[in-house]
Amino acid sequence: MPQDRQGWRVAPAPDGRGTPEEHKPSPPHRWRGFWIFFGVLLALNWLSVLVFQPAGQPRVTVPFSPYFIEQLKAGHVRSISTTGDTVNGTFTLKLRYPPSSTKATPTTLFKTQVPSFWPGSELTALLQGHDVQVNAKSTSTGTSLLAELFLGFGPTLLLVGLFFMLARRASAGGGLGGLGNFGRSQARRIDPNEILVTFDDVAGIDEAKTELTVIVDFLKSPERYQRLGGRMPHGVLLYGQPGTGKTLLARAVAGEAHAAFFSIAASEFIEAIVGVGAARVRDLFAKAKEAAPAIIFIDELDAVGRSRQGSAGITGANDEREQTLDQILTEMDGFASKEAVVVLGATNRPEILDQALLRPGRFDRRVAVQPPDKPGRIKILEVHTRSLPLGRDVDLAALAASTPGMVGADLANLANEAALLAARRDHHAVQMADFTDSLEKIMLGAPRGILLSAEDRERTAYHESGHALVGMLTPGADPVRKVSIIPRGMALGVTLSTPDTDRVGYSREELEAKIHVALGGRVAEEVVYGRITTGAESDIQQLTQIARQMVGRWGMSDRLGPIALLPADGAVGYLLPGVAETSPQTQYLVDEEVRRIVEEAQAEVMRVLGDHRDQLESLTRALLEAETLDAPEAYAAAGVPMPAVAELPAATSS
Ligand code: ADP
Ligand code: MG
Ligand code: ZN
Repeated sequence: MPQDRQGWRVAPAPDGRGTPEEHKPSPPHRWRGFWIFFGVLLALNWLSVLVFQPAGQPRVTVPFSPYFIEQLKAGHVRSISTTGDTVNGTFTLKLRYPPSSTKATPTTLFKTQVPSFWPGSELTALLQGHDVQVNAKSTSTGTSLLAELFLGFGPTLLLVGLFFMLARRASAGGGLGGLGNFGRSQARRIDPNEILVTFDDVAGIDEAKTELTVIVDFLKSPERYQRLGGRMPHGVLLYGQPGTGKTLLARAVAGEAHAAFFSIAASEFIEAIVGVGAARVRDLFAKAKEAAPAIIFIDELDAVGRSRQGSAGITGANDEREQTLDQILTEMDGFASKEAVVVLGATNRPEILDQALLRPGRFDRRVAVQPPDKPGRIKILEVHTRSLPLGRDVDLAALAASTPGMVGADLANLANEAALLAARRDHHAVQMADFTDSLEKIMLGAPRGILLSAEDRERTAYHESGHALVGMLTPGADPVRKVSIIPRGMALGVTLSTPDTDRVGYSREELEAKIHVALGGRVAEEVVYGRITTGAESDIQQLTQIARQMVGRWGMSDRLGPIALLPADGAVGYLLPGVAETSPQTQYLVDEEVRRIVEEAQAEVMRVLGDHRDQLESLTRALLEAETLDAPEAYAAAGVPMPAVAELPAATSS
């Protein structure tokens, strides 16, 4: 992506708005200055050699006595010129030094040094006696003025040149740690032509889409909205669980609105140096205002927008985050209502955002991005299978029915896994079996390929049959979809039960049923073998969690009543994070109630499995034989009438 002078990764809007004022010099261009500089240096060096050293003959350094004196006496010296005690001279004929050496080049040029104690009168007499031409030079100007200047200032010039070059490179951007880059926001401006995402690619979250359509309209023709004096929202906060399509939605807005789109993850604001984040925010907003109509998309807003309550500077580590947040608040306040700049924020955790962010005038429009319902899942599957060749047996509605609770990202993943699996199986089109097998892999985990001993295998079969049978016999429990004793991931076996419809809430009875089902595995082992193993760890964690939340969050204990006793997710206690706000007595009561709920459930499950021991046996035998049972097989093996639920499509064994 091209960059403007200040290091933004930018691309202009289609109508040319926001085109970088000056195109970044291309790399050869950027280096040209350096090469010219370098060339000039070389040339100067070469010139100086030419000027200051007569070419052709080397100048040989000879001892003053006896060699020089001897040659002088022999009349071989034509002329000398002295600079201080240094003597440069010429012989009348080419001589070698040392005389015996054959390697030395014969030359007429020589150089020697007059010892200071040598009597000047004697030398003078000799020189005069042999008719030697004598030139004297002042010691201070041994070389020419130009050379002097060059030698004196050369290193400085070199340094200045280098510095100049570095500075230019830094300001040219590069982004690679140029010193000038600290306060620049790292936001990417994305070319609307490059954004291939449109609202057509977003499915199943229609309410959110409708809300954002208004924003898109506004950005396309701001005048229409301003004519009636309306004020468009400055900030729109998209919130919802991960994978529901918040980031996708924001990109679709950019694709639809044909506005300049600046996107940054909030964590990119945070640097080790306090104040840098704030500078980046300032830069980002300034750029966006220049390019208006524009969208600023801050993803994962909670990274800077976390509530400041209770985090009051124990360490000061939050300073940077706070300054950045303050700057965002200030910038959002600073919008003139005319400015067609909309800030989109996205977060998975709206509840921990600072209240100041949610105030009118800032992120005052909040859009929930909900997990899709069944029709929504069909549409999302349609979007993600658009480019796949689908077999005739593929039933997207059935897939949607059997995937309650899955969000867009899960479904996109499912479609992709199915396509990969079909390719591996050399299918010409993606078939239903590819989908169901991928779904099984996603929901249950990939088979681990270890062999269990016969004993472990039997125990696992009883354990899973226990879960399944309790699930079948307990009113209010989710229907059993699949039972398997193929080891996957960390688990030796799996019992999958998912609700029939999309659930938004659970009753107390349904939660108790979940606890019963979770206990089923462990209790079955106890009923059959009379001893228990470590295999129930995750079951125990899960049921304890449910029981605690029933008591402490959902007010389902009559003894404690509807009081919130567990700290909410992400909330910080008054004193220190993690310190409860309830008294030790209350906490004791919570523990008591949790224990009561679980103990009652355990007694009940004991009774059920004891009463239906023969059904447990027949289900276990069927499971040991088939390894994996789908719902109809499992219900048949257990002799329990199957509830009329949407059936999970049977997977071919893979
Ligand atoms: P979030 O930002 O809410 O965590 P993303 O927008 O990053 O989720 O979604 C991840 C991927 O899941 C998207 O790139 C897209 O392929 C798919 N996806 C999620 N929601 C949808 C949806 N509603 N319609 C179509 N695809 C979706
Ligand atoms: Mg996201
Ligand atoms: Zn279990």
